[in-house]
Amino acid sequence: MKVIRAKTMGMCFGVQDALTLMRKLPNPQEVTVYGELVHNPEVLEEIAQRGMTMVSETQRVPPFSKAIVVTAHGVSETEKHQLAQNAEQVHDTTCPLVRRLHQKAQALQDSGYFIIVIGKPGHVEVKGLIGDLQTYTVVEKPDDVQSYSHPLLGVVSQTTTQPSVAKTIVQRIGEKNPAAHLKYVDTICKPTRERQQAVAELLNQVEAMVVVGGANSNN
Ligand code: SF4
Repeated sequence: MKVIRAKTMGMCFGVQDALTLMRKLPNPQEVTVYGELVHNPEVLEEIAQRGMTMVSETQRVPPFSKAIVVTAHGVSETEKHQLAQNAEQVHDTTCPLVRRLHQKAQALQDSGYFIIVIGKPGHVEVKGLIGDLQTYTVVEKPDDVQSYSHPLLGVVSQTTTQPSVAKTIVQRIGEKNPAAHLKYVDTICKPTRERQQAVAELLNQVEAMVVVGGANSNN
């Protein structure tokens, strides 16, 4: 049997940086990781073995801790403020590309746009993003798109969205809202694009594909 490895694979830099920080933290038994640092069972096992507490990302702000780690997926400013009140130290490992997504959405909102987020409702990254928005909706698939009663529509996407899905949804938004001014800011991250491209290239060369990763990862 011939095994062909994808050209690009493995953890992205955002998650690697978060892991590096986590591994350097002193007194791990005093650290609470707020959510799944990465959707990877082996890493989660490592966190548990280090003695760190990990609280579910769907759980509310955890009880007081000496130190809290915000994951690469990020949280809203509101949530970060709450965490800061509940810990002596907050170690924020939010990926710079998730920060960019927050900034782009915020800038669109500040310019008067209604924000349409392409992404999975309830996913921790989306939850962190919309936590600071006032007028928004989340669209996961083309059939979710509606006619919106706003003249300015600003569209961003979860960093791990499939580019072809984002393209179709943006087209559908335009079709259903012909009178609106539509502005799409591409916030899909480069590591995601590279991995998706590598998978697309492999598809023509293999009979079966094995994807190694957490089943709940949006990647
Ligand atoms: S935004 Fe991209 S690079 Fe950053 S943590 Fe998410 S998947 Fe990784």
